[in-house]
Amino acid sequence: MESQPDCVFCKIARHEIPASVRFEDDEMIAFDDHNPAAPIHVLVIPKVHIPSLRAAEENDQMLLGKLVYRAKLLAEELNIAETGYRISINVGKWGGQIVPHLHLHLLGGAPLSTRLEMTADASALLIS
Ligand code: AMP
Ligand code: ZN
Repeated sequence: MESQPDCVFCKIARHEIPASVRFEDDEMIAFDDHNPAAPIHVLVIPKVHIPSLRAAEENDQMLLGKLVYRAKLLAEELNIAETGYRISINVGKWGGQIVPHLHLHLLGGAPLSTRLEMTADASALLIS
């Protein structure tokens, strides 16, 4: 999908709003999360507006691989590869996705919680 006028991450990709950019090429841009959950918290996004991993299609596979590989390279550049890091993609409402433009979170620089948890009130909503 083409760039969306009102999407905050499309605006960052177009350099219309500021961000601390860590990497950029024709297809993607990586920048610091403005509300970091760890000492290193970088978001890696495609420049095309893909609303979510759910919306990714077969011909997006190469791009998805490039985003993951770029996150791996950034982890090395940012000196968090040896101690370890996490790459995560939140998908949809229950997956915790807030910004509707596909993004990878790269987190590291401190020991991360090993639990990937449900919310405290999740038991009433379980899907069997
Ligand atoms: P998610 O919950 O997976 O949608 O994550 C969205 C992330 O984007 C959050 O961690 C936000 O802190 C981050 N975020 C939102 N707007 C901006 C922005 N303008 N610059 C940097 N990070 C942002
Ligand atoms: Zn967008």
